[in-house]
Amino acid sequence: MRIVEIKQQAYSRNTHNRACPHWWFGGWDWLVNSTLKLAGSTNIRTRPGEIAFDPHVHTLYSHCSISTPAKLIKKAVRVGLGAIAVMDHGTIEGALDTMRCAEYLKSRGEIPEDFLVVPGVEVNTTHGHVGALFVQQDLAARPTPAELIDEIHELGGLAVVVHPYHSTGIGDVLFELDLDAVEVECGSVFSSDIALSNRGLLADENLSNVAKLGSSDAHYVAAVGSCYTIVRGIGEPTLESLKQAMIAGNCEPVSSLSYRNVANFLGKIGKLR
Ligand SMILES: [Zn+2]
Ligand SMILES: [Zn+2]
Repeated sequence: MRIVEIKQQAYSRNTHNRACPHWWFGGWDWLVNSTLKLAGSTNIRTRPGEIAFDPHVHTLYSHCSISTPAKLIKKAVRVGLGAIAVMDHGTIEGALDTMRCAEYLKSRGEIPEDFLVVPGVEVNTTHGHVGALFVQQDLAARPTPAELIDEIHELGGLAVVVHPYHSTGIGDVLFELDLDAVEVECGSVFSSDIALSNRGLLADENLSNVAKLGSSDAHYVAAVGSCYTIVRGIGEPTLESLKQAMIAGNCEPVSSLSYRNVANFLGKIGKLR
């Protein structure tokens, strides 16, 4: 089996680069990225006092992505995002490497000084995927959702229920939890039934104190920003001010036209899970 080598990046000389074990993944990555580009690129505009945030993207540290941090960051800046959160499956390493990459790109003047990379991790709990934001270490493996959320809060992070009604989500268990945010628009969900169920949580009165997020859940560079969150009232953009604005619930989930075009097209093929 051929190994697809990931090119060593200058910024990451202190870290390992993951090699993808599937010989075909490089071709698949190219094909999906090319198709997504045909659907059109997101073009996000924000007003003063707002930041466009994609709170859920994957890098090559996830088993299902070969997106490099440098390409992700540059794409995010190009589409108008002011912040991304890296939430790789079961490891914090992708987020930490992406933070280092952003500092490197800033030192070269390639991206704005105030661009934010939020550290996070997507954890496979006993009931499905739950995300941790603003944490900088690995978390316990395969906890219950409640155990995970306790651990996230002890570390000062925010707990996000991602793609709740997808087959890998936790579904209605979310109503029993002390969560901080829920992903109501997810760029990796293409079934209209699931998308509608996720979106239905926006108006749920049991979740009135929970931030509502839109995220790309991008496993491919071209999908970054396909869904995103407008965060208001953060003043000077810092990790702390972004976190406080999320706690205050100053979030508006948005799905881009390019995502809706792809979802409409794929929705005609059948129920995708
Ligand atoms: Zn997931
Ligand atoms: Zn994900």
